[in-house]
Amino acid sequence: MNKTDKIKFLRLLYQYRAMGFEYFYDYKPSKKFETTTYLSNDLEAIAKSVKGCYLCNLAKNRKNTVFGEGNIHAKVMFIGEAPGANEDEMGKPFVGRAGQLLTKIIENVLQLQRKDVYIANVIKCRPPENRVPTPEEVGECKPYLLQQIKLISPQIIVALGATSFHHLTGEYDTPISKIRGEVLEFAGAKLIPTYHPSFLLRNPSAKKDVFEDMLKVKAML
Ligand code: SF4
Repeated sequence: MNKTDKIKFLRLLYQYRAMGFEYFYDYKPSKKFETTTYLSNDLEAIAKSVKGCYLCNLAKNRKNTVFGEGNIHAKVMFIGEAPGANEDEMGKPFVGRAGQLLTKIIENVLQLQRKDVYIANVIKCRPPENRVPTPEEVGECKPYLLQQIKLISPQIIVALGATSFHHLTGEYDTPISKIRGEVLEFAGAKLIPTYHPSFLLRNPSAKKDVFEDMLKVKAML
């Protein structure tokens, strides 16, 4: 772990302590792709279950759940971290400034329409103040995402940002800056991690890296 990652991790621990956590279970999701058999094989039915889900504390403050949207037969699936304020308001993923940037990337680099791909998040309800979801929250919510991936069965999954990559793969010790642009295997698909559009809004110089990563995606379509 480099110094920046250590500072970020420490900040996260302070946030958790402020929320009342005293310790964590050693949450390490399986690196194998395992879906949960109790979930439906129908995406609409799962979305309905998510609407009525109170498995973690994030249910308390949400306005809407944000299940995901797009082509259920998409070749490309984008997976972000969690809904923000705009997404919580509208019940749709990536509709704020970061979402507009993601749409531009899809249209201008992949030369697809947003409706051609599928977009979802690791977590379906907005964490307060857009904090990083806790391992426990991800542990409760991730089965919905895994079932979405199984049913959509994309050829390519783009993990947007460190939280998405880490929780999908369990590779917590690998910084996104080191792994972005690599073509990995996950759930029978090619997994390409890249930076989150919100990161690009704060660090426009990283757009060229994402452009390169998306050209790899385009070449595989
Ligand atoms: S974040 Fe996921 S697990 Fe938590 S209440 Fe929302 S849908 Fe349920």
